[in-house]
Amino acid sequence: MEESIKQIKTFKLLNNRILQEGVCLDGGVLKVDVFINHQIDPYLMKQVSIEFIKRFADLKINKILTVEASGIAPAVMLGYLMELPVVFAKKRKPSTMSDMYQTVVHSFTKNEDSALVVSKDYLTEKDHVLFVDDFLAFGNAGCGIVDLCRQAGATVEGMGFIIEKEFQHGREALKRAGVTRIESLAIVESLEGNRIKFKGI
Ligand code: 5GP
Repeated sequence: MEESIKQIKTFKLLNNRILQEGVCLDGGVLKVDVFINHQIDPYLMKQVSIEFIKRFADLKINKILTVEASGIAPAVMLGYLMELPVVFAKKRKPSTMSDMYQTVVHSFTKNEDSALVVSKDYLTEKDHVLFVDDFLAFGNAGCGIVDLCRQAGATVEGMGFIIEKEFQHGREALKRAGVTRIESLAIVESLEGNRIKFKGI
């Protein structure tokens, strides 16, 4: 009982922040620079991470994976609380990196393709990965992570997103790519007319 009350509180906290401080941009983009994408609210990141820990409690995970840049804050908070290493896939191949796995993903917000690169030192067949990111939109970043993990022989155990934009159908793309556990803390059903409508509310 107490657990579900806490869960409702986290939902409310996050949904209220999105409603009060989120800005709808044209083309189905939600700007949450106030607490995730530019300024970061560490308290909210902690609440979000605690919720992820509960939802993925049944999984055996040894590594948190994310993509730069906006996934790093929730990933580090989660890694800190779970006492697990955090690896972020880079969007450019660093000149200092020689042996790596790479794939190409389309960025919906920037409308461009970019590389996604992770060093062979930090992703191996021993890894059971939890991928976390700020947004799930079309699922391009998540599918890129699936590809990197496949190359490394690592297992994707689950994926957690702070905000899912359901109308962009990323969840279906991830399921098609073989991801069986997907958890999103706030699910936006529509941004039509620049109005934020949450699923089930
Ligand atoms: P996907 O790869 O699922 O198509 O898109 C998710 C990635 O694009 C996330 O890493 C996120 O940073 C960015 N993104 C997608 N939609 C939005 C949005 O509405 N607002 C913001 N701030 N970022 C988004």
